Amino acid sequence: MAILQQILFVAALATAAWFLIRRAGLIRRAIQLGKPENRTDRPNERFSIMLRVAFGQKKMMTNLTVGLMHFVIYVGFVIVNIEVLEIVLDGILGTHRLFAPYTGAVYPFLINTFEILALGVWIVCVVFLIRRFVTKVPRFQPERHREMTRWPRTDAALILILEILLMTAFLTWNASDSVLREREVGHYGELSNVGTFVVSQFLMPLFANWSDAALVACERFTWWFHILGILFFAVYLTYSKHLHIVLAFPNTYFSDLKPKGEMKNMADITKEVQLALGIAQADPNEAPAEPGRFGARDVRDLTWKNLMDAYSCTECGRCTAACPANITGKKLSPRKIMMDTRDRLEDIQRGWQQNGPEHDDGKTLLGDYITAEEINACTTCQACVQECPVNINPLDIILQLRRYKIMEEAQAPASWNAMFSNVENNMAPWKFSPGDRFNWADQVNQ
Ligand code: SF4
Ligand code: SF4
Repeated sequence: MAILQQILFVAALATAAWFLIRRAGLIRRAIQLGKPENRTDRPNERFSIMLRVAFGQKKMMTNLTVGLMHFVIYVGFVIVNIEVLEIVLDGILGTHRLFAPYTGAVYPFLINTFEILALGVWIVCVVFLIRRFVTKVPRFQPERHREMTRWPRTDAALILILEILLMTAFLTWNASDSVLREREVGHYGELSNVGTFVVSQFLMPLFANWSDAALVACERFTWWFHILGILFFAVYLTYSKHLHIVLAFPNTYFSDLKPKGEMKNMADITKEVQLALGIAQADPNEAPAEPGRFGARDVRDLTWKNLMDAYSCTECGRCTAACPANITGKKLSPRKIMMDTRDRLEDIQRGWQQNGPEHDDGKTLLGDYITAEEINACTTCQACVQECPVNINPLDIILQLRRYKIMEEAQAPASWNAMFSNVENNMAPWKFSPGDRFNWADQVNQ
């Protein structure tokens, strides 16, 4: 029986590892579709941003209560899963609480800490479920935000429910195990000196009338449920918005260090304008620039960091809640821009898997996923960039799509074309001759 459990365990572990490695490879390949961009300068500053924003969750703390609850769920879940190391070794070696005989008082201390954190995670998950589905925080509601359709809502609920079940299984496993140790049933009795644990002791009375056989079945079931649930969680993560648990770290490390609002192509534009005004001379020895595409039409025209941003998005909607275009009823939602970019990448991945790596589905991010109406509504105010808890920049994608629409397809709204022509002819957005610019001063002097 024990050997059968070991074989089943190794098979489950290997299956999860295979899925994980495969998914990680696909996501890496999808991100590499993006154009190159150097984000490795100033490593100390980058590391400090990652520590403060990803690990310290600095931006989440603007709402202290929610920030602290998120911190509990995140730190708690990560630390509780350190226990997985022992569970995995027990599963492979066919042992039971492998570390307990060798770690003295440290072992109960660690399990007690895990149990307190597990209880914290359990409580916060329940509160988050209530917040999302009962008190209905506006930024999660599909009536107000069309991108929050059935799947994003199901995904959010699934992960919270799964965490509640995992923590429940962990505490129930400890409780049934403690009763078996107290009764000194079989090999459980060898660890009777470990004692009971701080939270699960309150569940032990539930098992008072259970037979030994029923208790062993409960202990085995909750142990298997806990570890299989964690393996499922790890694989599911790669299909879910909860991938941010992992990607928040590299995504914040590779943050944009330039001042907000500084355009990437400013140097090229400045040069073009100087040449046009005769302020600068073209270098006759300079090789002609590669003919390229202005802006972006599809994910291959974006940078790898834009694509990593899409996989790191938590779908929290803080960007959309702060977006003036969205608040005033325009069609734009920066959260949807990130979700659409990720959907486009996932569709490309599915095409690779079904039809080979050269498959082209004929779709593009601009047009098939994101409309001109959405990107044209952006005021470039940077509020979405400021608010994002994992330093995502939806504006960069919007600007690149808009640049393509205007410069490659010459499809700007009529009012913008009038403004462009005024800037070109009058050196100002208004329809007045530059010669009349100081007319107002004549009236002041009269
Ligand atoms: S930059 Fe654009 S998308 Fe971002 S908050 Fe401002 S208007 Fe909305
Ligand atoms: S872009 Fe940032 S703020 Fe907006 S939904 Fe995604 S994680 Fe949240």
